[in-house]
Amino acid sequence: MNIRLFKPSIGNEELENIKQVFEREWLGLGPMVSQFEKEWNDYIGSKMSIGLNSATAALHLALMAYKFPKGKKVLVPAITFASTATAVLYNDLIPVFVDVEKDTVSMDLKDLQRKYDKDCVAVIPVHNGGYPVPMDKLNDLAKSLNLKVIEDCAHSAGGVYKGKKLGTWGDIGCFSFEEKKCMTTGDGGMICSDDVELINPLRAQRWVGIDKDTWKRTQNAESNNDAMHWHYEIALLGYKYNMNDVAAAIGLAQLHKLEKMNAQRRRIFKKYIEGISGLKTIKPIFPYNTEEGAYWFFGIRSNHRDELIIHLKNKGIATGVHFYPLPMQPLFQKYDKSTPVAKEIWKTFITLPSHVDLTDEEINYVIDALQAFDTKK
Ligand SMILES: *Cc1c(COP(=O)(O)O)cnc(C)c1O
Repeated sequence: MNIRLFKPSIGNEELENIKQVFEREWLGLGPMVSQFEKEWNDYIGSKMSIGLNSATAALHLALMAYKFPKGKKVLVPAITFASTATAVLYNDLIPVFVDVEKDTVSMDLKDLQRKYDKDCVAVIPVHNGGYPVPMDKLNDLAKSLNLKVIEDCAHSAGGVYKGKKLGTWGDIGCFSFEEKKCMTTGDGGMICSDDVELINPLRAQRWVGIDKDTWKRTQNAESNNDAMHWHYEIALLGYKYNMNDVAAAIGLAQLHKLEKMNAQRRRIFKKYIEGISGLKTIKPIFPYNTEEGAYWFFGIRSNHRDELIIHLKNKGIATGVHFYPLPMQPLFQKYDKSTPVAKEIWKTFITLPSHVDLTDEEINYVIDALQAFDTKK
């Protein structure tokens, strides 16, 4: 057995869409990106969605949209992927690490209030592993503290909290379609908001600041006699952050099966939960709701973490750790005030194979390996 930790679930639907892109012979920012943006926007229920080459770009641009003065502070959870905090640094802002709750690994809203000071201008809640931050409570708190809310939905494409899609609770939602995430475009991301005026300038800023993309210019060139069809204006500092049509072609096919893939992950995670329910030394990393929701990974906690990782490795089972707390990383150490819970609980984290195409045989094999380990403890 050799069981991968993550793996994209891709096939003929994606290939068929890519074929259309090849037939059009237009691979860059073009009509496929527009179609994906439109369908994503309808799916999520936001007023505007902009396709990008990553969630890292989405987080960077989301903060940029507000033009916060240099040196202001942004609250981020201590346990998340690097980009949540690097996006803050890209904008010449200061990350303030908020500790996580012991049982949910979710941003601790009480600690958020402790860490808040008058220089804080925004908060980036992360739905870690797909576990939803209680967005109603977070929004109330953010409102009372005058903080903008940028949701990092990199782990929760299609996720829902209290009947409303994640990514539509905050002022801006950022999604990742990196190859390991809930759905993929190879690399890709999306930024969404109901505040069209706020994020509209980001359309140019994802395309080095150019206000007209080349696809539209080409269409104009064909449809009228305007000799100025090539003309564009650069009014804003932009980046090369656009999604391209090959990625969007994959994304459209993935979006059409996202609900099915999320349901399949819930089914797999339910099997894991039932399989480990009687074990003394292994527990789920946080409470999973296997009836609804979009979870990205299945994590467990064990006080014999490293030994268990080796045990699983020897059986051909790949594992991961999500995540090593950011305040412990050399780049971020100087921003850390106090995040004792994150620094304690991460030592027990293991992520098990979490991809959609896991077979029952593979799931049972992993469960058997966990049971065998637990029996010896
Ligand atoms: C993966 C990830 C990102 C970055 O996504 P990319 O699309 O790879 O840039 C951001 N935030 C979190 C929490 C992530 O896990």
